[in-house]
Amino acid sequence: MGEDDVPLELTEVDRWDGQVMARLDDGWCAALNRATMLCGIYERRPAICRDYQVGGSDCIAERLKLAAVSHD
Ligand code: SF4
Repeated sequence: MGEDDVPLELTEVDRWDGQVMARLDDGWCAALNRATMLCGIYERRPAICRDYQVGGSDCIAERLKLAAVSHD
């Protein structure tokens, strides 16, 4: 997250000493607005989120994984 301008209170340090987005107990990003399911820091979201194209192949793969889990 070197160049990112994410609010520090929404980050944590992982086991490799990297600064990452904090996750809540259920694993979801701490910046996610649960009421709207939209990013709560959209203008300040990290580069990795900016690079992740909604509806792209990675996005669809993740959604399919979630759908498979919810049907188990
Ligand atoms: S876009 Fe990134 S920062 Fe925003 S809620 Fe999703 S994972 Fe978190």
